[in-house]
Amino acid sequence: MTPYDAPSPQGSRALTDSFGRTVTYLRVSVTDRCDLRCVYCMSEHMVFLPKAEVLTLEELDRIATAFVGLGTRKLRITGGEPLVRKGVMGLFQNLGRHLESGALEEITLTTNGTQLDRFAGQLADVGVKRINVSLDTLKPDLFKTLTRGGDLAKVIGGIDAAQAAGLLVKINAVALKDDNAAEIPDLIRWAHGRGLDMTLIETMPMGEVEADRTDQYLSLTALRAELESFWTLKDLAVTTGGPARYVEVAETGGRLGFITPLSHNFCEACNRVRLTCTGTLHTCLGQEDAADLRAVIRGGADDAGLIAAIRNAVDAKPKGHDFHIARASAPAVARHMSTTGG
Ligand code: SAM
Ligand code: SF4
Repeated sequence: MTPYDAPSPQGSRALTDSFGRTVTYLRVSVTDRCDLRCVYCMSEHMVFLPKAEVLTLEELDRIATAFVGLGTRKLRITGGEPLVRKGVMGLFQNLGRHLESGALEEITLTTNGTQLDRFAGQLADVGVKRINVSLDTLKPDLFKTLTRGGDLAKVIGGIDAAQAAGLLVKINAVALKDDNAAEIPDLIRWAHGRGLDMTLIETMPMGEVEADRTDQYLSLTALRAELESFWTLKDLAVTTGGPARYVEVAETGGRLGFITPLSHNFCEACNRVRLTCTGTLHTCLGQEDAADLRAVIRGGADDAGLIAAIRNAVDAKPKGHDFHIARASAPAVARHMSTTGG
């Protein structure tokens, strides 16, 4: 695959929306496919996209590179499961040139961990320093149920491989009222015991899945209060450029993040946009606003045309999302998280 050149003359102006927020963070979903079927993320019988609709690795590189030229400092590769995309390491390798040039601060990855035993070393070699691994339980049976068939041992082996390769691993767990709520303190102890940060995520109403989300939803405000009944949580000023708020747990010495899209609105400081694997640019996770960058590049646009399309889309970035769990019997947005990229 041939890498595109990054900064263009138009790239000197920051990518700023109409509310004055500057976009510096791009999440790129490289596939809608996955080797797991988490109950809150996918329906049991997902119909995946035809290959022709999914951007090629060259197209993904071209769009990501245009963003880098416009001041994007962080790229997060996600999915679906990014590591099941054939040839994805070539994409990482090519995007690594922007790390070498200093245009990009970091490339990170969100993964379910099942393929990390194969890829951790290569990720470290191309300059990836931090990854997020999603893990909601340490109980093999519950893991199998929540992921509809996944093997917990593979994920733990993947985390071992990532740590051995020198990657900083953060564990992301979705808080599910009936399934893992009682286990969350153990999960935190386990992660902190291994020297890993951990972030808890509230379920978001995205895409039609079979489970009733109103039942699954667990407020992290309430969970935090419960954790504070036996732990000392100290607010930290740190941010990783994401929407998480962090605390230090005095008793474990580890860091714990809370992502609360439903009970806390984090839109005013939003610096991010998302590119789906079909080239749709979503400027807000919770709104339907979208720009079809695939049509732009497949229509033969040159770099100036692509940059203009990106600027137009960012200019129209909505002020905020509209998630309300009480209305969650119908999802706030129809697309699944696996399409948008979490
Ligand atoms: N397959 C990878 C993984 O699981 O880490 C990357 C993609 S996945 C869509 C990204 C993150 O989104 C995961 O941490 C997952 O738990 C989270 N997620 C998926 N559906 C969600 C939902 N409805 N609400 C909140 N988080 C969700
Ligand atoms: Fe796959 Fe990640 Fe969705 Fe689970 S959360 S089904 S691992 S994309």
